[in-house]
Amino acid sequence: MIGKCLIGKTKVKDLLLQKDNRFCVDCNAPNPKWVSANIGVSVCLKCCGVHRSIGSQISKVLFVTLDEWSSDEIDAMIEVGGNSSANYIYEAYFPKGYTKPGPDASHKQ
Ligand SMILES: [Zn+2]
Repeated sequence: MIGKCLIGKTKVKDLLLQKDNRFCVDCNAPNPKWVSANIGVSVCLKCCGVHRSIGSQISKVLFVTLDEWSSDEIDAMIEVGGNSSANYIYEAYFPKGYTKPGPDASHKQ
């Protein structure tokens, strides 16, 4: 069981090494270290805080190397396949003229 979990984590790390996952899915900051396990994307520390404030029922954020991952979470992450597939799914619904915030964007609304 422990062995299986380690293999799963290695898969998640491999996923994060892919080109499109080396930047935060939300703001494009480099080297994101957090992952939303149920959405299947990598996020930076700043956006991780935003995801946490939305609530874990919508976005379950985990630290890639430290948090314990259940095999379900790993499977969900791998199923989505990372940022470019998630952006393809979620950004399909962007209203016309909407632009994504960048790394320097304020969190104030
Ligand atoms: Zn970010």
